[in-house]
This record gives sequence, C-alpha cells and structure tokens, in this order.
Amino acid sequence: MPDYVFEPGPRPTIPVQGTDKLFPVRRVYCVGRNYLDHIVEMGNDPNREEPFFFQKPSDAIVPLGGKVPYPPLTKNFHHEVEYVLAIGKEGFEIPVADAGSHVFGVALGIDLTRRDLQFEARDGGRPWEVGKAFDHAGPCSAIKPLNGGPVPKSAAIKLSVNGAVKQNGDIRMMIWNADEIVAQLSRSYRLMPGDVIFTGTPAGVGPLQRGDKIDASLEGIAELHVEIV
Ligand code: MN
Repeated sequence: MPDYVFEPGPRPTIPVQGTDKLFPVRRVYCVGRNYLDHIVEMGNDPNREEPFFFQKPSDAIVPLGGKVPYPPLTKNFHHEVEYVLAIGKEGFEIPVADAGSHVFGVALGIDLTRRDLQFEARDGGRPWEVGKAFDHAGPCSAIKPLNGGPVPKSAAIKLSVNGAVKQNGDIRMMIWNADEIVAQLSRSYRLMPGDVIFTGTPAGVGPLQRGDKIDASLEGIAELHVEIV
C-alpha cells in the first residue's frame, strides 16, 4: 500500500442497472450547446459549430440523485437535463464508426448550473468553472449497460419541477449525436474507462428553489429524482 499522509477517500461511482456492480468515475466531461432550441434560448449563434467541452469534478456526481443542497453564491440556480454516456474502453482520435464500441452504457444526468456565475464568467472572459463545477453539480441515474449494442440515438428526454414539465425533447435532436461526441472529444483527450460525458441539454432550462422536486426521465433508459434542500 502507498504511504499516504491521509486516507485518499473513496472513488466516485455510479451504480449499474441490473447488477450490484459500480461504475468507477474518472472524469466528467460536458458538452456545451448541443440542441438548437437551447442555443436559441441562450441567445447564441444557431449555426452548427464544432462542439465544445468543459468538465465537472468527478466528485460532483450525485449517484441516483436524491437530496441536493442549494449551492452557495448563486441567485439563479438552473437545471439542464442531459443524456449521459459512460466510457468503458480507452481511445484517442476514435473514428465515428468505432465510437459506439467505447461506450459501456448510458444514463440520465442533470448538469446543475449557477447561471448567474456562469454568465459573469463568460462575459468577463473567464473560465466557466464557478458556474458548472461546484459540489453536487452532477446528479446521475444508474447506468444502463449496452452490452456491446448500439448507442441509442433516439429517446424522449424530459424534466419536470414540482410536477410541471419544463424540458421536453428527444435525444435525436442533438446537433452532434453520441458517436460524434465521443469522436470529437477523443481528439482533445485520451478517453479512459470511467469517463462520463454529459451531452448537452434541450430547451427549457430554468431556475430551482429550495424544496423543489425534480423528476427526469430518458425513455427506456432511466429515471432520476432530485430534491433541492
Ligand atoms: Mn449542460
């Protein structure tokens, strides 16, 4: 055993559906601007550009949702429901045609965002981290393993707050589909088993308050329930 100066603590994990096994999380990548209707609602240019990526810390993952504390410093805390890919095989510069073989499974996540801090950073030419990479910023459902099958390209994705539907889209509306995202991301980074990718959100993002109950679903793949406390 290495002689640590203190115990390093557990590795973040996400349960795998249908088993008692855990998926050990290495990195959490997120895609910005991947649905046309969300690009328009944010006031950005709707022309198809290369996808861009940012990260959340792996310990921001909240496996299976549950209670999420309202984060500090924000007055505009937003939900973004997202289709999540879980990488199971190493790869660099992965061709689109091979991308599916690198995906262990799929899940449903919420890219929680301190929108006011994100926009202050963006408008000041600073990194987005303060708006995106805070504690508890990534609730995620259990992972549905694909067992070598194709990565889903079509499924309804929904999020409601206190029973009112706020986001209602379909992952086939993604500008860059799952295979293209894996291929693109692997041009910047060597993807490794344990990497998780939040693939962007459809329109309808909006504010959350303490006490709000979030119900999210990805058709045929997962459900996720979160309460803001
Ligand atoms: Mn997002």
